[in-house]
Amino acid sequence: MSQSILLLPGDGIGPEVVAQAERVLRVVAERFNLDFHFESGDLGGIAIDRQGAAYPSSTQAQAKVADAILLGAVGGPKWDQLPAGERPERGLLAIRADLDLFANLRPAILYPQLAGASSLKPELVAGLDILIVRELTGGIYFGEPRGIRTLESGEREGFNTYVYRESEIERIARLAFELAGKRDGRVTSVDKANVLEVTQLWREKVSQIASDYPDVSLDHIYVDNAAMQLVRAPKQFDVLVTGNIFGDILSDTAAMLTGSIGMLPSASLNAQSKGMYEPVHGSAPDIAGQDLANPLATILSAAMMLRYSLDAAAAADAIEQAVSAVLDQGLRTGDIAEAGVTPIGTVAMGDAVIACLN
Ligand code: NAD
Repeated sequence: MSQSILLLPGDGIGPEVVAQAERVLRVVAERFNLDFHFESGDLGGIAIDRQGAAYPSSTQAQAKVADAILLGAVGGPKWDQLPAGERPERGLLAIRADLDLFANLRPAILYPQLAGASSLKPELVAGLDILIVRELTGGIYFGEPRGIRTLESGEREGFNTYVYRESEIERIARLAFELAGKRDGRVTSVDKANVLEVTQLWREKVSQIASDYPDVSLDHIYVDNAAMQLVRAPKQFDVLVTGNIFGDILSDTAAMLTGSIGMLPSASLNAQSKGMYEPVHGSAPDIAGQDLANPLATILSAAMMLRYSLDAAAAADAIEQAVSAVLDQGLRTGDIAEAGVTPIGTVAMGDAVIACLN
């Protein structure tokens, strides 16, 4: 049965890196006998220019029927002067909400070949392979009431509401346990249960769900300690599960452990395992259109898409092995090139991955 993949290249380097991932997907489809149907749509600045909205109704219709979505990046200086509600990044928030993508998966993997690129000592990070599972559609970023009000004294006060329902905690916890079951079998839940009642409930609920997953171990850690441990001894973790705000901060910390933003994939999933897959980096306007962008984060996002939404784990493994083989050959784009290494371009990196797949 044919599976439909919606490509949303977006802005800046987005189209360049998505083009390489599409080439790779077509090659693995052939090799693994997978029947993919590709469509392209507009999201972000390009959608504002062509259709007058960052997430136009045509893209919405395409997204609803696609089996999986591969996104490049959105945004750039051209649209920076627009009011906040009309900017390209709003398109991203809108599609996440529209598809109810409640779980954000961010692997932080450090290929041993790139251990020198991390800001930590190579022995602390070489071979790092952790997965951060962040709740994406709830918590303090969405809680009501919120706002800035003026008190009787005339002083202004900002306020937000940190709220999680049991059902929201349960679905993200179950996903984390299931993913850990396919990895090293260890979940660490991050909270601030010593101070915040909402995360007391989080801890209670996650512990309760754990009994359904006897093969997976669970421990709990306060968020301040988690931040410290991530830069002290990150390899102690397998899967970290946490709410929206803590996950936002910890996943960026984990990203930096790996040294290069050009290598990091991500996935956002809904309850039906439909997902949107995208590199962690942005549209990099400073290098757009110059064949300088590293396409590996997007190619690795395509591998995650095969694994989590398209039930093609063998093809995902093949892509990840090909990326590792390319690094073994010493091939590097500018962002990951050590001193003295002549970097290759975006298309040449795509060619190299494809050569390793054949
Ligand atoms: P950025 O990630 O685009 O770039 C940061 C730095 O990393 C730049 O020097 C860039 O050249 C470099 N870089 C990023 N990706 C690279 C790659 N694949 N290969 C080589 N080098 C790479 O972040 P920014 O500069 O803060 O933001 C630029 C634009 O992207 C803004 O409009 C921002 O809003 C948008 N943005 C979009 C997303 C998204 O679409 N998910 C995420 C972050 C930022």
